[in-house]
Amino acid sequence: MSASSRTLREEVERLDREDPLAPFRERFLLPEGIVYLDGNSLGALPREAAARVERAVREEWGKGLIRSWRDAGWIDLPLRIGEKIGRLVGAEPGSVVVADSTSVNLFKVLAAALSHRPERKTILTERGNFPTDLYIAEGLASFVGKGHSVRTEPAEKIVPSIGRDTAVVLLTQVDYRTGARHDLARVTGEAHERGALVVWDLAHSAGAFPVDLAGAGADFAVGCGYKYLCGGPGAPAFVYVAPRHQRNVQPLSGWFGHAAPFAFEAGYRPAPGVGRYVCGTSPILSLTALEAGVDLFLEAGMDRVREKSVRLADLFVELVEERCGGRGLALLTPREPARRGSQVSFAHPSAEGVMKALAARGVIGDFRPPDILRFGFAPLYGRFVDAWDAAEALGAVLAAP
Ligand SMILES: *Cc1c(COP(=O)(O)O)cnc(C)c1O
Repeated sequence: MSASSRTLREEVERLDREDPLAPFRERFLLPEGIVYLDGNSLGALPREAAARVERAVREEWGKGLIRSWRDAGWIDLPLRIGEKIGRLVGAEPGSVVVADSTSVNLFKVLAAALSHRPERKTILTERGNFPTDLYIAEGLASFVGKGHSVRTEPAEKIVPSIGRDTAVVLLTQVDYRTGARHDLARVTGEAHERGALVVWDLAHSAGAFPVDLAGAGADFAVGCGYKYLCGGPGAPAFVYVAPRHQRNVQPLSGWFGHAAPFAFEAGYRPAPGVGRYVCGTSPILSLTALEAGVDLFLEAGMDRVREKSVRLADLFVELVEERCGGRGLALLTPREPARRGSQVSFAHPSAEGVMKALAARGVIGDFRPPDILRFGFAPLYGRFVDAWDAAEALGAVLAAP
């Protein structure tokens, strides 16, 4: 392809000028000279998060001290932010709470799900699932130890493998390596027809595209606060429990999941609803930061976020193919928007070195073993020119001897 047929940067700058979400970029603190395509691992810093955390530290903690549990509403944060995240993932009111990490929440919901299906012993999951999901499932199955086990299958064999012994299907909706997306409603329906429950990990879904948990009749879900949602490093995670499953208890029955934590009662009485999925004292400063990130998504609207995400990823794929055809890249991410999340992945035999060379040029994506280049698109701060600059840098890196 001749150089003159390449898309010019000026053409792409026009897309940013016409982008209704462009003003949101100013709401983030981003370093100069960096093209950040790793918001799927750690979302960027919202200015408002920095301001709110500062206020929470100086005013609420510094001056309010212990009184802030009530006066500053600390006690309400897990459910209040859960309610907001619930709107992003299509949950029924009162069915999401923010607590702990994704890994810990997986343990709680998997255990709860197993207790709903005592006669079934298998947790069915995807062979390529994120490691912590597999580790937690295996750890729980061997700990329960009543003949429970984990069965792994490739993505396309999950639905046909749901059998009479499948208690719960555990799936990450968007594959962290390839960006391929499961049809949440279809798999949930198939599992229910066969008598199994489903736990969805929404780590690469929440903040990436609209999810409709209630519409799909979902059972349980967990998700991450520090990736697309921009909650900050180690931000607490969220957990969704369908209203019909909320009467069961989860095993981490800590005092903050008690109906009256400050009554200091002798016995455990679970809080009504999803509040019982909180275990111990919440990280208030981290929750404060997370709420600022979540508020930006509510303000922008997930439909608009998704629309731009699809356009950014499509443009990036088009530009990379324009510049890097024949350079050994293989697109791993499905081209159909409905079948993918908000990342674009390519396989390349020297992926690790290529990603290092990109970083040296100020383009931050990430490498995932064995040979994957991963680029995440976060429409609230990502620009069309970022896709252009990244594709241009990738072309230069791959053309270098
Ligand atoms: C990032 C990620 C996690 C993270 O779990 P933590 O407990 O927050 O470390 C879990 N599952 C998936 C699919 C992820 O991508």
